[in-house]
Amino acid sequence: MTNQKPKKARLNLRLYFTLIVLAEISGLLIVTSLMVSLLGDRAQLTITAPTIIFMLVASLFIGYTVNFLLSRAFFRPITRLGSAMRKVAKGDFSVRLDTESRIREVQNLYSDFNIMTKELGATEIIQTDFVSNVSHEFKTPINAIQGYATLLQQENPESEADAECVRKILLNTTRLSDLVGNILLLSKLDNSSIELSETDYRLDEQVRLAIVLLEERWSAKEINLDVDLDEITYHGSEKLLGHVFGNLIGNAVKFSPQGGTVRILLQKGNGGDIIFSVSDEGPGIPESAMEHIFERFYQTDSSHKEEGNGLGLALVKQILTVTGGTVDVTNHENAPGCTFRVLLPRR
Ligand code: ADP
Repeated sequence: MTNQKPKKARLNLRLYFTLIVLAEISGLLIVTSLMVSLLGDRAQLTITAPTIIFMLVASLFIGYTVNFLLSRAFFRPITRLGSAMRKVAKGDFSVRLDTESRIREVQNLYSDFNIMTKELGATEIIQTDFVSNVSHEFKTPINAIQGYATLLQQENPESEADAECVRKILLNTTRLSDLVGNILLLSKLDNSSIELSETDYRLDEQVRLAIVLLEERWSAKEINLDVDLDEITYHGSEKLLGHVFGNLIGNAVKFSPQGGTVRILLQKGNGGDIIFSVSDEGPGIPESAMEHIFERFYQTDSSHKEEGNGLGLALVKQILTVTGGTVDVTNHENAPGCTFRVLLPRR
């Protein structure tokens, strides 16, 4: 049984206010008419229809003016607070409101709001600094373990069991190293403390390199690659965009079935924007996961949890936000799999 609450009719605050003022004016009008008619009876005055219409129009005019002046004074602070709140909800804690107001309550409200955003900003800095420092401290020991494990592997372990242990140590340190690297990069992107170092370079060559670097994985799964790359020179951050292509192609390979086809396209759109897309024949994205897919640590498929950390797509999204691009995903209609599409702005 669904436990849905009945929807309450919502009234726009401004309309609500107008109705109240109009009700007051109408009340006033009725009382005045009654009094005038009583007085009229007693003092033998005749109240004609034009007089009533004049009173009605005058009351509406007064009502409208009073409403206009009052609503300006009442609603402006609320509207200003509302738009500031929207910015905070989107993660911008640098918003401050001017506390110079003739209304004491508004002054207090704005000043409390400013204290709140200041505190939120300070907490965010502490948190991101902490994440970045811890990740940095993790890197050195992980690299050392990785180095020693590689040495052990090269010295041909005595038994098969020893060799398996060394292989597992290497695999897990690589995963840990990837995780720490991703967290560090994300926190740098969040803090805007990353050098974009934009240069002119060949985008198609970069995509080709990303495919080659993943060769071990796609050849193990006997994936068919259908690659169509236009020759494009682009001005952008080569290092950051490398993560975007590597992650998306890596995911397509990871979620493809054995012997599946991965289609990779790079072309110039009509408006001069650059379109990169990668399609696979995997399970696609469940409808319920569509809105979460780019969130940090979000994973839908438990069978592949071992192979990732749920940060790849969050990183792709954040890199594109910083560099001015976009990414979206659509499931294929009447066929398995999905297509991730990246749009890079014309430069
Ligand atoms: P992971 O390291 O787990 O791959 P990502 O951030 O790259 O993390 O992806 C998040 C989740 O999105 C994945 O765990 C998977 O459930 C889903 N996903 C990403 N790419 C694909 C794809 N090509 N096909 C199906 N599901 C995908």
